[in-house]
Amino acid sequence: MSEAAARDFIAPGAVLGVLGGGQLGRMFAQSAQAAGYEVVVLEPQAGSPAALVTTRHVASAYDDTDGLHEVARQARAVTIEFENVPAAALRWLDAHVRLAPHAPAVAVCQDRAQEKALFTRLGVACAPHALVGNDEQCRAAQSQDLYPAILKTARMGYDGKGQIGVRTAGELGAAWRQLGGVDCVLERRLDLDFELSVVLARGADGAMVHFPPQRNVHRDGILFSSTVGDGVIDHALAERAVRAARGVAEGLGYVGVLCVEFFVTRDGALVANEMAPRPHNSGHHTIDSCDVSQFELQWRCLVGAPLPQPRRHSAALMLNLLGDLWFDSHGAEREPDWAAVLALPGAHLHLYGKHQPRRARKMGHLTFTAPTLDEVRQAQRRACELLGLAP
Ligand code: ADP
Ligand code: MG
Repeated sequence: MSEAAARDFIAPGAVLGVLGGGQLGRMFAQSAQAAGYEVVVLEPQAGSPAALVTTRHVASAYDDTDGLHEVARQARAVTIEFENVPAAALRWLDAHVRLAPHAPAVAVCQDRAQEKALFTRLGVACAPHALVGNDEQCRAAQSQDLYPAILKTARMGYDGKGQIGVRTAGELGAAWRQLGGVDCVLERRLDLDFELSVVLARGADGAMVHFPPQRNVHRDGILFSSTVGDGVIDHALAERAVRAARGVAEGLGYVGVLCVEFFVTRDGALVANEMAPRPHNSGHHTIDSCDVSQFELQWRCLVGAPLPQPRRHSAALMLNLLGDLWFDSHGAEREPDWAAVLALPGAHLHLYGKHQPRRARKMGHLTFTAPTLDEVRQAQRRACELLGLAP
């Protein structure tokens, strides 16, 4: 697509495509629909969270040529809600329809090794690491100063899946075999003070805007909460993270919404962890805490609309609602007490329309907004009590 064509504005009324039918696709569709766009979802499974709210659904595998042709025929522009769409499918779309983000940028985000190589090339610090993809690399990694470490599959990992703790060099071989002997990244386990992430958007013309970074808490490798508000993150540190994330987007020639996750270590270092070429779970609070959400910025990038710098109007705390909440202590299924949750001040409930609760499955999220952090924290404590969650 030429630069001139990339700048062409796609007016409301047009059909936009999204690859993937999960909650991110659902929230993208809901935001785009609010502005008058129609959305077509490419998703193999019927009844997905996104397809439940859209009028158009192409039910095919991501690499099915007929399905891709159909999406390219219906949609004026296409985005993704899920980065593990096969690279060849993304390349085909990139050549035939406006696609944001572009295929090469997504390819980097599909692979932890490529992500780390990019961070390093751009001078963004990341955890000391080694590649483990064959016996020779496995042996070499045993003599490196990386332990205790975490072995992560280079591709397809999410929510802590595809990761094994490796305390000593002697444990590496077994851990690697346990992960199927696939390409992996072994990284030093860092002593974390806390985690933060930056969500930004970059247009086809290179204009960039960002949200204030959020402070994230993970439990068992899954995001538990994200918090924004005055003083949640030291101002200078937040600025450094934003600068690094913007540098990554610039370096990739990125178009669309990008999230970069960071660690802050106990000795104060800011270390890039990984990135997502799409809106991110840690940015869900923006729907309720800011005057423009990460999903609005996603479709604005896609249609070539101006990108407003988001303004956070409230302190906010987002809690993920995992399937565990749908089971009592005896393992019997139950429905959380939504009426009580909704009675809490500043509560915004988002459920994704998933009918089968499963442990660790993201069923929805709950954001509290208020003028002050104290108030959102108080509401969160009461929500945790109601839901049976450790605060
Ligand atoms: P995922 O793709 O599953 O999100 P991450 O690499 O982000 O994978 O790991 C999930 C979580 O595990 C992180 O948010 C962090 O809490 C913890 N973690 C991952 N890598 C490290 C590390 N090198 N040192 C300490 N904690 C880590
Ligand atoms: Mg992560």
